[in-house]
Parts: sequence; C-alpha cells; structure tokens
Amino acid sequence: MMENHFDVLIVGAGMVGAAAAVALGQQGWRVGLVEAKAPAEFDPQQPMDLRVSAISAASERLLAELDSWPGVLAMRAAPYDTLATWENPNNEVSFCATDLQHDHLGHIVENRVVQLALWQQVAALDNVELLLGHYPSDLSQDAEHARLTLNGQPYRAKLLLGCDGAQSKVRQAAKIGVSGWNYRHHCMLINISTELPQQRITWQQFYPSGPRAFLPLVGQQGSLVWYDSPERIAELKRLPKAELKAQIQGAFPSRLGEFEVLNCASFPLTRQHAQHYYCQRMVLLGDSAHTINPLAGQGVNLGFKDVAALAEVLAGATPEALASDPAPLLAQYQRKRRADNLMMQGAMDLFYTTFSNDLLPLKLARNLGFKLAQNAGPIKHQVMRYAMGL
Ligand SMILES: Cc1cc2nc3c(=O)[nH]c(=O)nc-3n(C[C@H](O)[C@H](O)[C@H](O)COP(=O)(O)OP(=O)(O)OC[C@H]3O[C@@H](n4cnc5c(N)ncnc54)[C@H](O)[C@@H]3O)c2cc1C
Repeated sequence: MMENHFDVLIVGAGMVGAAAAVALGQQGWRVGLVEAKAPAEFDPQQPMDLRVSAISAASERLLAELDSWPGVLAMRAAPYDTLATWENPNNEVSFCATDLQHDHLGHIVENRVVQLALWQQVAALDNVELLLGHYPSDLSQDAEHARLTLNGQPYRAKLLLGCDGAQSKVRQAAKIGVSGWNYRHHCMLINISTELPQQRITWQQFYPSGPRAFLPLVGQQGSLVWYDSPERIAELKRLPKAELKAQIQGAFPSRLGEFEVLNCASFPLTRQHAQHYYCQRMVLLGDSAHTINPLAGQGVNLGFKDVAALAEVLAGATPEALASDPAPLLAQYQRKRRADNLMMQGAMDLFYTTFSNDLLPLKLARNLGFKLAQNAGPIKHQVMRYAMGL
C-alpha cells in the first residue's frame, strides 16, 4: 500500500494544533492535520459556549500573524481593559490597559471561535490537508519517520506533533512520562445574562474555598468561574437554575448586579507536565505537554507560545535537516518553552496555595501584599506586561 507522506503530521486540530498547522503551512511545509471531531459551525444566534479563554495580547498578535484574528473578531470576542483582584474589597489591585498605553489587556473568546478562525486559514492553505473524522492508530517512529494509520491508510512524516490535549495519544506513543496532580478544587463555569451593559472588566475575588471570577462576554453576558471543593461543585451542579442563582447571589460580590443563569458545567483541575517535550520525531505542544491551574487564564496562551517557538525553530530549518535528525531543532524548542511553562505553573500554584486557606497571619500578609501591589508602580507594570505576554 502507498504511504501518504507529509513533512509534518499534527494530531489534534484544537486551538493549538490548528495554530501550529497554519504557522508551519505558511512556512511552506507540507502538513497533514488529523482531527477526530469537527467543531460546530458558527452562527451569531447561537448561545455562547461555556468554554472560553482569556486571549492575551501576545496570543492576539500570533493569531494576527496567522491571519486568523480578523476571523475571530468577525465572529465574536469581548475585549477587556481592566483586571481587578482582591481578597478584602478594601485592598483591591487593579491593572488597567491605559497604564501601559494600550487599548485593552486581552479578549475573552469562545475556544470554538478561535478554533474556527484558525480552520478558515487551514482551508486557505493548499499545502495543509485537514484529515477530519479519524482517530489515528499504530503511532510509531524510527530513525527516519514517524508513522500512523488513519482509516486503514498508512501515513508518515518527518515530524509528528502531539496537539491532542491532556490525554495525548502521541505522548503515550512517544513514551514520554508526565508529573502532576489533581488540585483539591473543581471549577464551575456559569454563563449568565446581566442587567449591566457589556463590560470591559474581568475581576476575581479570593476566598479560602477558592477564587470566584467574572469574565465579560459579548453583549450583556458574562462567564462566572467558581472554584470550590468537588463535593460543593457537585452539589451546585444538581441545583435548578433559580436555586443556583440564589447560591451565586450569596457567594459572589454585589458588583455582579442583577443576572440570570443561562448554562453551566464543571471541570476537574489538573496540573500536568511532560518530562520531555520531544522524543525522536514526536513533539508535544499545548495541553499535551502541560496543563495549568486556570486561575490566571494562561493555559492556551502558553500553548500559543509553544507554537510560536516551534515555528521560529523550524523557520530556519532545511528539509534535509528535518529529514536527517530533528533532535537539535527540537532541543532548541524544548529549551525555549519548558522552563517558561514550568515557571508559570509554579507561579499559579504559589498563588493558589497562598490564597486557599484561612490562616490569620497569611491573611494579613496577603492583604498587605495587595496594598503594596496596588501601589507598586513600575513593578506592577512589569507584571502586567508579562501576563499580557508582551
Ligand atoms: C475551566 C477551564 C478554564 C480555562 N480558561 C482558560 C483561559 O481563560 N485562558 C487560557 O489561556 N486557557 C484556559 N484554559 C485552558 C485551555 O482551555 C487549554 O489550555 C486549551 O484548550 C488547550 O488547547 P489544546 O489545543 O492544546 O488542547 P485541546 O483543547 O484539548 O484540543 C485537543 C484537540 O485534539 C483532538 N484530539 C484529541 N485526541 C485526538 C486523537 N486521538 N485523534 C484526533 N484528534 C484528537 C480533540 O478533539 C481536540 O480538538 C482553561 C481550562 C479549563 C479547564
């Protein structure tokens, strides 16, 4: 049987895999993009999806380079220019885009909208082929190729990218181990309609049982994020909408205003980090390499940084170098990304453990920290720049 041959095969066409396909396709590589499930087409009348992400300024820039950002804006995205966080409402820290002479800090976008905008660019590239509706099997590699089977057909490539999420089959095939744990919190996402007009602020209040946050969505809508024990989240999930609303009113700050519950779902929270980002010809990006506490909305932004780093490394590579031995290139990619991802995971965990308790000395220290942070001037601006990926 004839083998189908690509320079790069990518398993998973979620936000990260689709971005990688466009980035490498734009460089001229012949790319095969394997995805099991197509996202539903966009219709402006559709209710907002529950899965949304805070897309940073750096991710926005990458999506613009991939010609996908106009596609996102043509569907729907809510800009925010202020990020406020506090434990005691008297010690609020707020970060404003105007402090950095920016119009906005980021956008809240449905994951599917980002994915669809990237898929539009995949369709526009002749050298990128979407292989849709298949779960690959027989993933393997040798010194010359990585291989897989799709629907009984053999495929091979010089490089196989695992962009297939936290339960990555590519990672398993490459025999790359992970370290990590489940956090003791689950997270509930609740879409609401609000009496307030479309907002440009995202805020988060810390409680010993976990943070509670508001993310603005387009129109008079918002996404609430409620972290709590798995038992409490399971209890909330069972409630009818009217009772859930009453619980939210009791638990969230009054600045939320009047609202109605539209939809909700819950997610366990896991931290996971691959011990290596590549093995021979298989390489991991996005959630297949790392998952992080979503506390500061960094997950897919780190995945997009992975894409940018791999694209930068491959931009300077010749087809011969990729064919003979990709290890030096992939080592460069790993050097660029692994320490940065690990640092962000560590920072989120430090935040998470510092805030998820009710010890008085820590509480006092935290609130002093908030006071200092609010008045930290240039340091605060540096933190903002880092969070925005600038
Ligand atoms: C509650 C919550 C809130 C979050 N909020 C934010 C936020 O505000 N900002 C942020 O940056 N991040 C956030 N994240 C993280 C973000 O959602 C993930 O980092 C991001 O979705 C990872 O994208 P990915 O493309 O790597 O993986 P995935 O989104 O998991 O995509 C994997 C793709 O691969 C496909 N696939 C899987 N297995 C196979 C297979 N065997 N064959 C073929 N296809 C396959 C899947 O169908 C899917 O399309 C949040 C996460 C959670 C849980």
